[in-house]
Amino acid sequence: MTGIDLESFRNFIWGWIGLAGVVFVILFFVSAPYGRHLRTGWGPLLPARLGWMLMEAPALLLVGAGLALGSRPIDAYSGLLGAMFLVHYVNRTLVFPLRLPRAARAMPLSIVLSAVFFNLVNGAIQGLWLGELAPSPSPLRSAGPRMALGITLFVIGALVNLQSDAILRRLRGARPEAGGYSVPVGGLFRYLSCPNYFGEIVEWTGFAVAMGALPGFAFLAWTLANLVPRAREHHRWYRATFPGYPRARRALVPFLF
Ligand code: NDP
Repeated sequence: MTGIDLESFRNFIWGWIGLAGVVFVILFFVSAPYGRHLRTGWGPLLPARLGWMLMEAPALLLVGAGLALGSRPIDAYSGLLGAMFLVHYVNRTLVFPLRLPRAARAMPLSIVLSAVFFNLVNGAIQGLWLGELAPSPSPLRSAGPRMALGITLFVIGALVNLQSDAILRRLRGARPEAGGYSVPVGGLFRYLSCPNYFGEIVEWTGFAVAMGALPGFAFLAWTLANLVPRAREHHRWYRATFPGYPRARRALVPFLF
């Protein structure tokens, strides 16, 4: 037992969601300085691979620890949600960084540290919920259809995200123009500048729906806060950098945005 009561946990998460709202607004004015938006003045640089591993590891470890050490028995609810979370984070912490192209840009330590902070808090929230605080036994019979919908969305989002990241990986450094960047084609790039972000958002929407509780929606709020402003920035950059950029392509949501 952690001694954390549900009321305090909920209040903390509402504050955490409020902070995501503040970050969302700030990121429309100051783009996170990594990848193509890297610029000086944000501290020393770390290799991209090391940066990604350090950033994402806390979420993987804390949710793994929550499930393994928490007093709540693992059931279908926490087992399925835990598996979704851990599979995503094994990819993001280990597979994605190791497969990054050599040409991937270094990232400032300040970005790595802020992402470590985010992943510590988010990992602790999800781990506490799944390992301690979620109702037990969970009402799986009535929640079955909702979980099925959530898992379906999660899988579709993950496939879109993985496919889009793979297309970008093959593209990186393939051509010398525009600093090694070029116009991606294939998959949902036909409609979007950032289908990897679109897939990621669909994925965590599915996770939140399947969970049906505040921790999942808090993670979704942070995903939106990080990725919506960044997709707009990427889209503007593509249009400014490549004169023939497809006019019909949207930033993040097919046909809309
Ligand atoms: P980007 O799309 O900016 O970059 C992904 C990789 O592809 C980088 O190695 C990048 O190189 C390369 N790349 C991108 N566009 C091109 C191009 N046009 N030509 C050649 N190479 C290109 O994604 P992020 O780095 O921001 O994110 C990586 C993953 O992490 C994504 O799947 C994203 O969804 C996820 N993520 C999730 C967040 C969340 O809050 N849940 C937050 C941030 C990311 P370089 O780095 O050198 O630019």
